Amino acid sequence: MLFSWLKNRRRRKILAEPFAEAWLNILRAQVGHYSVLNDAEQRKLQDAVQIMLAEKGWEGCRGLELTDARRVVIAALAAVLVLGFDDFYFDNVQTILVYPNAFIVKEERAIDGGASLVEEDDSLGIAAHRGPIVLSWAELEENAASPGEGFNLVFHEFAHKLDALNGAMDGTPNLPTDDLAQRWAALMNVEFRKLQRAERTGRETLLDPYGASDPAEFFAVATECFFDAPQAMASTYPQMYALFREYYRQDPAAWRPFFV
Ligand SMILES: [Zn+2]
Repeated sequence: MLFSWLKNRRRRKILAEPFAEAWLNILRAQVGHYSVLNDAEQRKLQDAVQIMLAEKGWEGCRGLELTDARRVVIAALAAVLVLGFDDFYFDNVQTILVYPNAFIVKEERAIDGGASLVEEDDSLGIAAHRGPIVLSWAELEENAASPGEGFNLVFHEFAHKLDALNGAMDGTPNLPTDDLAQRWAALMNVEFRKLQRAERTGRETLLDPYGASDPAEFFAVATECFFDAPQAMASTYPQMYALFREYYRQDPAAWRPFFV
């Protein structure tokens, strides 16, 4: 209680500062989503950017200079996901690490006989369950500038963090009612299996086949599509679109289409 009172007081102070003109120019020039939002959404997004820049730990890695401009782009994209929520700014994300490009992830894997093997893999982003978000700047900058393709690394990794809020990264985020939870479980299971079948048979889908890996990836990939190709998602997967509209409390298909 005291903590949230202090937090709210601190946030009021952050928001009392005017939104810098330079930051506004970055939103307009580099974040394709900004211009399709209505005035109220744009103001809410600006608030979220100010709060996230002030509250999160930001770190450039392997020589990347994490300027204010770059932080604004990342925070703005993360903010798109939470425009329908009240005063939620990813309190479960303390640190955001940004690499210039894809980075190498080493994973230790146990093999027979008690030995272990270190596997190396290229990665564009990570959302560690109780750890930081790690992003490739080159990838997210490209996504920010070219919305409408259904891919967005920042949406993907921050969706994992929404998924993690109820303790497990399992493709089911916090759902406000039992009724929604039941409909969620039923429909997401069906759609996940459909994507798995399509992936096995090589059939092309609007959703990235990577979503067939597991239910957590399915939720992250579907979130990318919901916010980055909303009109296409609404017509291709109308039931899932309606479910996501209910959860995110947003209707991105009603936005002006990108590039029109
Ligand atoms: Zn993922």
